[in-house]
Amino acid sequence: MKIAVYPGSFDPITVGHVDIIDRAAKMFDLVYVAVIRNPAKAPAFSIDDRVGMLKAALSGRKKVKVDSFDGLLVDYVDKVKATAIVRGLRAVSDFDYEFQMALTNRKMDPNVETIFLMTDYKYSYLSSSLVKEIARLGGEIAKLVPAPVKKWLKSLKEESI
Ligand code: ADP
Repeated sequence: MKIAVYPGSFDPITVGHVDIIDRAAKMFDLVYVAVIRNPAKAPAFSIDDRVGMLKAALSGRKKVKVDSFDGLLVDYVDKVKATAIVRGLRAVSDFDYEFQMALTNRKMDPNVETIFLMTDYKYSYLSSSLVKEIARLGGEIAKLVPAPVKKWLKSLKEESI
């Protein structure tokens, strides 16, 4: 059984993330979509909200499981018996950070491979930050996030009034 972990903040999940998840699910028997519990990032949504959004957005996908984790990614990968980490790449600006993380994770666990999936050009501009900004300003986010996620984003507009 080939298992992968797709870790991220998912603050919130976007259709760009869903595209990566669906493509990863074609390559692996099981993909854990795992929210990183990283207090340093000051997310807009709580862990419970982000897990709730992921579950609502990804329900019905048999090869996908939603989870969250504390601590080192390689320890989580080991715990769920995965052999690969999946990350998405958009512009060159993603590269430096992703390169450093992939090499660091390989140093910590040489058995874990990081696999990069290139964004679909349709989503190359899309980020969670952009979605939050548009939602706060009352713009239309229907095409940017999975439909069940829209109701969580309404709270951002209410907070900013
Ligand atoms: P993190 O804080 O770990 O970067 P994100 O939720 O922002 O978490 O992103 C998780 C992963 O998904 C990262 O590898 C990121 O590059 C990728 N990603 C985010 N948005 C897109 C997109 N529109 N297309 C492809 N990959 C994306």
